[in-house]
Amino acid sequence: MLRLFALCLTPRWIVSATVAIIGLLSVGLVALLLQDNSYTKPAYDKLECDNSISLTTVSVQSEATLAPVIHDGNEFTATSSGEPKLEKATFMMLVRNSEVHDARSSIRYVEDRFNKNFHYPWLFINDEPFSSEFVKMTRSLVSGNASYGVVPKEAWSMPNWIDRQKAEECMKTMESHKIPYGGMESYRHMCRFFSGFFYRHELLAEYDYYWRVEPNTQLYCDITYDPFTFMRETNKTYGFTITLHEHESTIETLWSTVRNFSRAHPEHIHPNNALDFIVDDQKSITEGSYNFCHFWSNFEIASLKFFRSQAYGDFFDALDRSGGFFYERWGDAPVHSIAAALMVDKAEIHWFYDVGYRHQDYMHCPEPLAEFHDSGKCFCNPDQNVDRKSYSCTKEYRRMRGEPGGQ
Ligand code: GDP
Ligand code: MN
Repeated sequence: MLRLFALCLTPRWIVSATVAIIGLLSVGLVALLLQDNSYTKPAYDKLECDNSISLTTVSVQSEATLAPVIHDGNEFTATSSGEPKLEKATFMMLVRNSEVHDARSSIRYVEDRFNKNFHYPWLFINDEPFSSEFVKMTRSLVSGNASYGVVPKEAWSMPNWIDRQKAEECMKTMESHKIPYGGMESYRHMCRFFSGFFYRHELLAEYDYYWRVEPNTQLYCDITYDPFTFMRETNKTYGFTITLHEHESTIETLWSTVRNFSRAHPEHIHPNNALDFIVDDQKSITEGSYNFCHFWSNFEIASLKFFRSQAYGDFFDALDRSGGFFYERWGDAPVHSIAAALMVDKAEIHWFYDVGYRHQDYMHCPEPLAEFHDSGKCFCNPDQNVDRKSYSCTKEYRRMRGEPGGQ
């Protein structure tokens, strides 16, 4: 029986062995062909994902000195060691210990699609100390330095002008109306932290730009240039990938609070603002009402200088004093979006259209096949692009930019 079994298998083994030999020969041939190719793979591709590794130990070709390095057809400036010249920028993730696996997945996407070639640092922030397990599990995936910080108490508690009893009643009511996260106090602290505190965190002090990353997010396109350099060189302040409409019931008094702010501080409203993105029918701040459009802030590449400005500080203080972060459930997405739309030049807002991105149910997938898909740059399905859906604010954004497809 055994012999029969072995006999039956013999021809397949021969076939498999032949296929394997042909395969090996092909790989060798391709390798030989690649040797002739003038493209030199940058040395930093070889680095392991280990914080302790010394970047200077990697040997690089001297021609790379301060010249633009060609990488997959895109350019970025290299330092004398051949490494990309980094901006004062960092990844930033607010995350719980319990989300370590979702965090790892996001890190891996960012590293694979972009950071393995750049090694920007990562900042992890939590409302309680990170566990050694979290640190170990995330350190092992990042290609830049990783720092771990805790949110200061005052940035994660109700300020003294908030009536706690009233806030708790509001939360109960919102929960009974099944408003998303309506009954959750921690969600409110998170939104308030992103609205008014993250940019003041000591671990962000040395940076000019941040890229916000959330657990459980996916990136679908290779990013072969430095988006931070792009932001600085083109004088951009706020970058996004997805626009959506906010749940109206979470921000009932936000717009009237913004109106009061704009009356009290007309000096902070930019003359060339993007009001047309957030108010329909070309109405003014005081005559029009908010159309609930916002940049979905779980992905952001933005300027910290803007958030640290007097204008944004006055804006956040006015909102915070009104109590809406607790009596309602104001999200940091409409807060950031309204601030960016009103207080910076609309030319400083940038749609990272080329960044294929998903979080939960919503995905932005760049559509033009020739540019993004045929080359293998992206691997998302353009038919599922959120920009096509009525609940995205792509039309309003295009209208504000004066582009075709705006409404
Ligand atoms: P959603 O995207 O609006 O559904 O909200 P999430 O639950 O994803 O929270 C947004 C971000 O804040 C994520 O990065 C979370 O990890 C983080 N976050 C939310 N609540 C807490 C919390 O209580 N503690 C910590 N450390 N992070 C939180
Ligand atoms: Mn989320």
